[in-house]
Amino acid sequence: MNQKFNFAVLLVIILISGCLKEKCEITSSQCDKQDTKSGGALEGCSFKQLRYNYTIRDYYLNSDECACNFKDETKYRYELVECCNDTDCSFDEKCGDNKCERIKCGDCQYIGEHKCIKNECCEDKDCRTDYECKNNVCKEKPITPIIEVVDNIIILKNKKDVTYAYDDCEAVDKIAYSTPKIMKYIYSRFDDIFDYAIIVTNFDTCVALLQENIKNEIKGIGLDIFDKSKIYGGADKLKGIVRMGSTNGLALTSKFTFLHEFGHNWGIFINSGLKDEHNHWDNLAFLDSCDAMSASGGQFILKEDGSYFLKQCADEWGYSELMLYLMGLVSKEEISNNDYHLLEGVDENDPFKGYNIKSTYSINNIIRLNGERIPTPNESKKNFKVAFILVTDKDGASSKEIKKLHQIMENYINWFSEATHNRANIDFSIG
Ligand SMILES: [Zn+2]
Repeated sequence: MNQKFNFAVLLVIILISGCLKEKCEITSSQCDKQDTKSGGALEGCSFKQLRYNYTIRDYYLNSDECACNFKDETKYRYELVECCNDTDCSFDEKCGDNKCERIKCGDCQYIGEHKCIKNECCEDKDCRTDYECKNNVCKEKPITPIIEVVDNIIILKNKKDVTYAYDDCEAVDKIAYSTPKIMKYIYSRFDDIFDYAIIVTNFDTCVALLQENIKNEIKGIGLDIFDKSKIYGGADKLKGIVRMGSTNGLALTSKFTFLHEFGHNWGIFINSGLKDEHNHWDNLAFLDSCDAMSASGGQFILKEDGSYFLKQCADEWGYSELMLYLMGLVSKEEISNNDYHLLEGVDENDPFKGYNIKSTYSINNIIRLNGERIPTPNESKKNFKVAFILVTDKDGASSKEIKKLHQIMENYINWFSEATHNRANIDFSIG
């Protein structure tokens, strides 16, 4: 074989083998990678496995078409997807077909964590009694005032809303009423105009006679400065509430009881030997008149022999000078020369033997212990607007009851004026 031939053969062999070497022989696994958008990383749930048909096409040098071409052979490729689970989406979306979709909830539902949650309520009937559905939440129903005003008597026909069972009560029905609840009703209808309130019921109750101090701004009467008005409806003016029993009760028509309970708005709270621990004048206190705040049930009178005896009081009930001082109706100067005494029995076992002076008090002595009464009579309030409230069941009051109460209100007005020597008055008018 000559050299020239040999060289040509060799060149052909090289060219042939070189061509073979340059041929693209892409493998199936390489093709998988090429078709994967992320370059083959298949971890996590952000990739969706897609069924895909393709073939491997030969690759040749200088060809732009070196690629995995489709044919009917089944392979897979992977594609980046939006979501695989709900947690890949925002709280108000869920994952459906690998796409986050906005959740649509029903009328009475809201979107929670990728799902619809039923609201606490949609209608009032979804809530328990006395609650209503407000903005899909059960809220306590605002009290519904059923108030009628007849001749300045405020009739509250919400008995069951303001009463409760008072187990410690000895009365048969054990019904007590809540003054805060009653006053909240009152202030849902009336402006903040009342200085005091008197409450009467047309049914028997426990704790029928009582006075509650709601707010005190007076100095020198032995009562702290305080304000509980928030729990009574937030009225700024209201200072006290007096319970006067039921329309059938004897207390309601008693001058003594009315003046006594109403008088508790001012006393007797002072630090003095003249008062007892129940906020009354001591039953051995000598005062200048039949004071309805006296525990003695009468008035001590000086006898010629210098001893004292107890006279029962009837229609003369009123307020003594000291009581009028506490009410801001008499100045300290007006009574500065007067003495008041605490007495003791001449014979402890025989009240008929009379009483002697044990100790003596003056207004200066009381001021020393309690400070001066402020406001003084020049500035104190003397006209008191009083709410006269009758609590009934839903049927209200009979005309007979109304007539009776109207007379009683007239009496209260007159009794208070007399008791204060026309220095103060109460006013039941509304509006
Ligand atoms: Zn009392």
